[in-house]
Amino acid sequence: MTTVRTRIAPSPTGDPHVGTAYIALFNLCFARQHGGEFILRIEDTDQVRSTRESEQQIYDALRWLGIEWSEGPDVGGPHGPYRQSERGPIYQKYNAELVEKGHAFHCFCTTERLDKLRAEQTDRKETPRYDGLCMQLSKDQVQQRLAAGEPNVTRMKMPTEGVCVVPDMLRGEVEIPWDRMDMQVLMKTDGLPTYFLANVVDDHLMGITHVLRGEEWLPSAPKLIKLYEYFGWEQPQLCYMPLLRNPDKSKLSKRKNPTSITFYERMGFLPQAMLNYLGRMGWSMPDEREKFSLDEMIEHFDIQRVSLGGPIFDLEKLSWLNGQWLRELSVEAFAKEVQKWALNPEYLMKIAPHVQGRVETLSQIAPLAGFFFAGALPLEAKLFEHKKLSPEQVRQVMQLILWKLEALRQWQKDQITACIQAVVEHLELKLRDAMPLMFVAISGQASSVSVLDAMEILGPDLTRFRLRQAIELLGGVSKKETKEWEKLLAAIA
Ligand code: GLU
Repeated sequence: MTTVRTRIAPSPTGDPHVGTAYIALFNLCFARQHGGEFILRIEDTDQVRSTRESEQQIYDALRWLGIEWSEGPDVGGPHGPYRQSERGPIYQKYNAELVEKGHAFHCFCTTERLDKLRAEQTDRKETPRYDGLCMQLSKDQVQQRLAAGEPNVTRMKMPTEGVCVVPDMLRGEVEIPWDRMDMQVLMKTDGLPTYFLANVVDDHLMGITHVLRGEEWLPSAPKLIKLYEYFGWEQPQLCYMPLLRNPDKSKLSKRKNPTSITFYERMGFLPQAMLNYLGRMGWSMPDEREKFSLDEMIEHFDIQRVSLGGPIFDLEKLSWLNGQWLRELSVEAFAKEVQKWALNPEYLMKIAPHVQGRVETLSQIAPLAGFFFAGALPLEAKLFEHKKLSPEQVRQVMQLILWKLEALRQWQKDQITACIQAVVEHLELKLRDAMPLMFVAISGQASSVSVLDAMEILGPDLTRFRLRQAIELLGGVSKKETKEWEKLLAAIA
């Protein structure tokens, strides 16, 4: 019997997402329950958006949660390399094989042509798709154009009639018409594969037997299925997990809910409680108990207990569960957790230089720097009243700064300052107009230690969370404002 092998295949393009941890958890449980292996692969073929920092954050966040993998870029293994950017020649080879067998073809169409085609199809209310022009080229023509070094992509051929039956472990057979599938690009002009080619090749070569992935990938399943068929490979069992949702049922998004695992760590959630809560997303223990450990989840795991109604990721429910976990610790263990969370020498050393010069007794530290040891702050709207700016402008400045900070990749004082500076300059304001607002939002007080240093120390998750909290307190941002302000944002350097 083949050993069960599952994987998580994150793209390192941003903060480590709770959705990644959720899918990883279910893959891990499924593998362990069958005595199999769970591995980690980094899908970093998007060279513009992928970063090593983000990759490291994924490892750290998953490990913090207690999710371990037996093979991966950082731990090695017999099927490496486990980072797609290091597997270029492998994809080249398999791409060539598809072209050779006539399942894929070189496409030389320019972006201009494709844009025009898309516009025409949209005008005719058709689904935009490639029209197959380059499929007509003769072998000689293709050879000539390749020899002349013309930029090209490889596209896969697609059936145009009938339906593809996707066997899903949770839904049974899902039928998707072939004509909904475009002739997918497999290899880009830069010689890098797209998700589809790389994913199929790697899952096959890495011996993956079961793929549990998010439901957002279900509509594109036929492309993967076709690729397995073209290669003549056995397809892994597929399982499309329900998407996590905000309390209003929309897809979990950072606009409505913090989605970065590091946020939850910073807020003082216990990793065990976090994993427990993720395990409750669409799944339940046979005896319906709410609180369980990872080992207990593995012991009782049954994928058929996943229900398809969109599980709601609710901060309040998570907090309740975390409270259960905290209260069941021994007092010693609880005190240790507090220490580990923020009363550790490393964190204190970051704060100390900013408070030392401002206190006469140590006990003054608490009122001055208490906000370093808090999550949400008790804010008062009247602290945001501004001599020069209208309430609308106040919200606008803060929202624009928040958006800039959301896109900021290097979280250092200078970069943070540059974001704020860019916003105020664009609005023809001064830094000193915006700083009092930042003070209040970040520290909850009208004056405190240097707020820019505080933002650096608090980190991106808590800083953005508090800004969002302040904006909400002041009435939030309407749909219309969002539209208008996003235009402003785009114009800010
Ligand atoms: N790289 C994809 C992602 O980031 C992997 C999806 C899959 O599991 O196939 O979600």
